[in-house]
Amino acid sequence: MISLLQLTASDLKEQIINKLMIDRGIEVSEATGKDVYYALTSVVNEKITPQWFQTDKKYKSQNNKQVYYLSMEFLIGRLLESNLLNCGILDVTNVVLEELGFNPSEIYAAEHDAGLGNGGLGRLAACFLDSLASLNYPGHGYGIRYRYGLFEQRIIHGNQVELPDYWLKDPYPWETRNEKEAVVIQFHGDVHMFKRNDGTLEFKYENTDKVMAVPYDIPILGYENEVVNTLRLWSAEAVFQDNKGKSIGENKEFYRDLDHQHSIEQISGFLYPDDSSHEGRELRLKQQYFLVSSSIQNIIKYYKKTNRKSLSHLPEKVVVQINDTHPSLAIPEMMRILMDEERFSWDAAWKVTTNVFAYTNHTTLSEALETWPKDMLQNLLPRIYMIIEEINERFCKDIWLHHEELQHKVHEMAIIADDRVHMARLAIVGSFSINGVARIHTDILKKQEMKTFYSLFPERFNNKTNGITHRRWLLQANPELAKLITDVIGPQWIKRPKQLISLLKYSNDRSLLEKFDQVKHENKNALSNYIYQQTGILIDNQSIFDVQIKRLHEYKRQLLNIFHVIYLYNELKENPNQDLTPRTFIFGAKAAPSYHMAKEVIKLINTVASIVNYDKDIRGKLKVIFLENYNVSLAEKIIPAADISEQISTASKEASGTGNMKMMMNGALTLGTLDGANIEINDLVGNQNMFIFGLTSDQVLNYYQNGGYNARDIYNTDDRIRRILDQLNQGEFGIHDIEFKDIYYNILYHNDPYFVLKDFEPYLEAHELAERAYRDRATWMNMSVTNIAYSGKFSSDQTIQEYATDIWKIKRG
Ligand SMILES: *Cc1c(COP(=O)(O)O)cnc(C)c1O
Repeated sequence: MISLLQLTASDLKEQIINKLMIDRGIEVSEATGKDVYYALTSVVNEKITPQWFQTDKKYKSQNNKQVYYLSMEFLIGRLLESNLLNCGILDVTNVVLEELGFNPSEIYAAEHDAGLGNGGLGRLAACFLDSLASLNYPGHGYGIRYRYGLFEQRIIHGNQVELPDYWLKDPYPWETRNEKEAVVIQFHGDVHMFKRNDGTLEFKYENTDKVMAVPYDIPILGYENEVVNTLRLWSAEAVFQDNKGKSIGENKEFYRDLDHQHSIEQISGFLYPDDSSHEGRELRLKQQYFLVSSSIQNIIKYYKKTNRKSLSHLPEKVVVQINDTHPSLAIPEMMRILMDEERFSWDAAWKVTTNVFAYTNHTTLSEALETWPKDMLQNLLPRIYMIIEEINERFCKDIWLHHEELQHKVHEMAIIADDRVHMARLAIVGSFSINGVARIHTDILKKQEMKTFYSLFPERFNNKTNGITHRRWLLQANPELAKLITDVIGPQWIKRPKQLISLLKYSNDRSLLEKFDQVKHENKNALSNYIYQQTGILIDNQSIFDVQIKRLHEYKRQLLNIFHVIYLYNELKENPNQDLTPRTFIFGAKAAPSYHMAKEVIKLINTVASIVNYDKDIRGKLKVIFLENYNVSLAEKIIPAADISEQISTASKEASGTGNMKMMMNGALTLGTLDGANIEINDLVGNQNMFIFGLTSDQVLNYYQNGGYNARDIYNTDDRIRRILDQLNQGEFGIHDIEFKDIYYNILYHNDPYFVLKDFEPYLEAHELAERAYRDRATWMNMSVTNIAYSGKFSSDQTIQEYATDIWKIKRG
């Protein structure tokens, strides 16, 4: 067998041709892009399979501790190109595809994005899997195989329209159904308690609804190291009913069973398009328990198969990271299995459980802190609810007996309070580690949001700033830049991204800066072409590409951005000869379907675009582009072409952000607030290499606590702002004059909860500075290269290294 690393162009070509003939019965000349795509995936899979097997075998024989990353979301995007890259055969494949007469990027685009996530949280999980495998760590993901991923967004007459994302319509070549690992999950039913002869308690469940969880495994490849880890996605199926060959007529239950089957399949039916509040209820809770019960059962089964010691030693071999509170029912589920099935005492089970789980917090937004009505939980999961009650009682009693200073806080710390179950509190009490995702975010958790818990468990709290895989987000998405970097500093940075810092030595080398500028320019050309294809709008590729791509949320303040555009437009209308560097404002954003204000902002952006883009008076100096259906693949197209990275959340609200890191790594300059990881970017590159503006998080938190902000004062005193708001109110942009009134009212009558008006002027000033800086190409490119040089710190390799040593205590395989 030939190793991948030695695969030559002619070998590969022959294999593709053979696959086309054997699997499809066609010749290359007849093959469509999709045919070639499947032929290639089949070639790659043949290489992966033995490596996957070897990696499994190695982990079994080493029997080292393994980490399992539990997440309701994995936003993995496409896999063919990154698998080719990680196998070390991307370049040769590109050559071969060209030789066969195909455009490689069209072949890769035949794959449907796996959009099993909403945004940053799900993308983080995908980047982490890539880094775990690339660093040769035994670490795997557990998630749900939703039949429908995040909705596909269309913009029709400026409005967002949501279409179902049936990503499994074509066979998904990377998954393997693994029926022999299926497990049964139980919902509802009655719990009976018996006393055994030895005085211990036994719990039996009756009349439960049983659901089968069947795993589909996806290989996760390390970069050029032959490591293949596993992402295991669970699918819900009806438990097989043996009707002993009865006909439909004889089997009165047939149609009822069919209905029943359908309702079970709903559990892995679709991803909720929410990363904060707006959501459907009980089914989502079912999904959460479905994920954690199948995963914990699977983990314990594997442990028993590979270890002879008792499960009391589980924490020596297993650590489970829970991505936000969504999988926090894993804690009572572990307790249930240890006590009810393995006959552990409470204390022994609790000791194991609290040494296995580690919890990552992703937000301090109060509307996103998860709670469930206790009746719903009790009805759906009676035994789990009993265990949560017991955890809660013991926890509260402990405070009462041993922490007098916190006695008056018991109500706000209790896991069950006001008839609701508070998932973050459950996660904190049941985990040995609690981490925030950027320094400021962790500080806010300690000082405000989770202050009382921090005083109780100071040793559990730690920070792990998020990261992104530089393999996908630089090497794969921006090959020309990656090549130039390698030409300048050699290839070591690919395995050690911090070595990008060597670029600093060249940040004043004019001729080199010109080369970086040229690469950016080519990327901008490519994006312009794509935009023209998609929208029919011609943009000026000499203009500043100003990019804001992320989920639409009020705290991310796309509204502030579009207000700035309206301001520029108003200025240009008054003075068309104004000396203004042409700008292209590029947006990509989905709004949760029930999030009214977010959808209004999408409508506003598109409405402004439809006016600005066709107004001859402003002589093409402004263009506004809203690209529909923002997802991983679209991000990969836009980011290499960005000049300015808009990271303008209301300070204190963005836990970390990762879009900021992706754009920095591709040489865009951040224009942003001191929020999330922007602060850490700023620590590295300094104020002179980015554009910082606006309220600090202390100022924002102070306003929230003590008042003192009045949006109307700004409306009354700032003509530019009054003009914009009046334009909205008077229907100047709307078809009806009520079109954008909600935005107007939210700002003036709800006192601008996200400080858009307060930060408007400093935002304008930051833009003016950026515009001036852009005119001086050498200075701008020096800033750009400086940003790339420092971006290695934000490789998820770095982040995973920190998780591995500080929290997981795992060794490389
Ligand atoms: C990186 C990424 C995000 C997160 O972006 P933020 O700017 O950090 O909110 C969301 N969606 C997709 C598709 C991404 O690739």
